[in-house]
Amino acid sequence: MSLLIKNALINGKKQDLYVYQNRIQHISPNISKQADDVIDASQKALLPAFYNTHTHAAMVALRGLGEDKELNEWLTQDIWPREAKMTPELIYQASRLAILEMIKSGTVFFSDMYFYMPETIKAVDEMGVRAAISVVGMDLFDPRQTQEKKKQMRSFFETPVPTDRIIKTVACHGLYTVSEELFLFAINLMKEQKTFLHIHAAETKQETEDCSQRYGISIVEQLNKWHALGPKTILAHAVHLSEKEREIIADTQTVIAHCPISNLKLNSGQMPLDDYLERGITVTLGTDGAASNNSLSMLGEMKIAALSAKNQANNIKAGKVSDIFRMATRSGATAFGLDAGDIREGALADFILVDLTNPLLMPPYDLTANLVYSADSSCITDVCCNGKMIMKERTVNQEKEIKKAFTEALEKSIQ
Ligand SMILES: [Zn+2]
Repeated sequence: MSLLIKNALINGKKQDLYVYQNRIQHISPNISKQADDVIDASQKALLPAFYNTHTHAAMVALRGLGEDKELNEWLTQDIWPREAKMTPELIYQASRLAILEMIKSGTVFFSDMYFYMPETIKAVDEMGVRAAISVVGMDLFDPRQTQEKKKQMRSFFETPVPTDRIIKTVACHGLYTVSEELFLFAINLMKEQKTFLHIHAAETKQETEDCSQRYGISIVEQLNKWHALGPKTILAHAVHLSEKEREIIADTQTVIAHCPISNLKLNSGQMPLDDYLERGITVTLGTDGAASNNSLSMLGEMKIAALSAKNQANNIKAGKVSDIFRMATRSGATAFGLDAGDIREGALADFILVDLTNPLLMPPYDLTANLVYSADSSCITDVCCNGKMIMKERTVNQEKEIKKAFTEALEKSIQ
């Protein structure tokens, strides 16, 4: 399988790009190799695709429910009761719809935290994207659920997945929903399986206060005490961290998945991005679920990340375009061990093509700034993941069928 992109703007120059199997093999002007697929990109730029490091994909089925409520009220009144009625079929169809939205906005990878994972795995396999998938540890401090979750989390690692585009991870919902016993089990499992650990942490002030009451120390200190932190641990949100917690995160090279839209929308607070980056902390970007965003587009996330950083720090130098773009691309990919997120020979062949004649990308003084601040999905014409075109000229396979099947599954399941 080979692919040749002709005459694209790549790293600031008009060039061709040749993909063999799933890697970028060659970038230079006038490549004359034969390829199975040849794409003329004369009016286009070729850029890294996006890596969404924290989401709940199938929550697209809950988009628009319980608006204007705070996190706890929203979870207990609107989200959890409806999630209890969701069927595996709805999770499958909602995952397909979410992936469709992600592809159309240039995302090729998402780190997911949800349930009925075989359904999401099937959707990822069929639609050609990458994902980090886990069985979520969450027992609400009920000992029966603790044992049940342990079994499910263990057996997830004993079941093969259909594609190497899927990374099996360990997830714990958060310190306010997971017992110490289940947390310690998850941390051991993560180490034993040499994989990643994905946790909601310090999203709200309430959560930090609850942790102090339960354990007598802060969330990050408690996670550190359990030896849960390190470069393979991804903390989603991390909005409310003390000075000491920030030092621990930097020292242990723990990764943060910043979700600025969800944090602003649920009025959870603004993460001090500038301070974290200055400390050398790896910050990546996630959309969170569509029920609290309400979009899965990393384009919108980048813009709000930049604006939120400037506003929070009261500093025009905060949330720089180059930092924000790197968080959405290279930092997200490398956080999950993917040799991708930039355009270079030898890297995994994940990229997007953008239409330079789209009014939102004109004039071309600063293409990255245009991507962060003015682009929407209509600018992205083509998406390649793992060497395969999964969107061409804005067409994704089976789009009509995906939307129809989702609507039918939603009607059957919830109403
Ligand atoms: Zn979340």
